[in-house]
Amino acid sequence: MIPFLVEEVVTMSERPDQRKRRGPRLKHLPVRTCVACRARDLKRTFVRIVRTPEGTLAIDPTGKRSGRGAYLCRRFSCWERAANTDVLERALRIPVPQEFRDELLRWADLHIRRDDPPAPETTPEQEDQL
Ligand SMILES: [Zn+2]
Repeated sequence: MIPFLVEEVVTMSERPDQRKRRGPRLKHLPVRTCVACRARDLKRTFVRIVRTPEGTLAIDPTGKRSGRGAYLCRRFSCWERAANTDVLERALRIPVPQEFRDELLRWADLHIRRDDPPAPETTPEQEDQL
């Protein structure tokens, strides 16, 4: 039988008041949610889809155009979902014409690798059951 050495590491120096203390925030990092897979991540990892003030839709990789925005992560499956379902219509509250759906797929074809891991199959309905 091999003796089992258990070494308990208790850091007595870590007092509760020290744990509570928060350092000053250096930078506010905006977090966004992918409208297709609901994954949350930093804004800069997403691609913004914008409803322009003129009422048209545009892919806005810089994230700087004015208008109501929705975000898609860089998973090919999410762009397919955005093109084939109403997730963008619900997020932007505007009908998504077929031409823009085609544009989404073209953009994904050009900018996103198809072999990236697929998004988890999570829909808002499934989320509600959790
Ligand atoms: Zn996604």
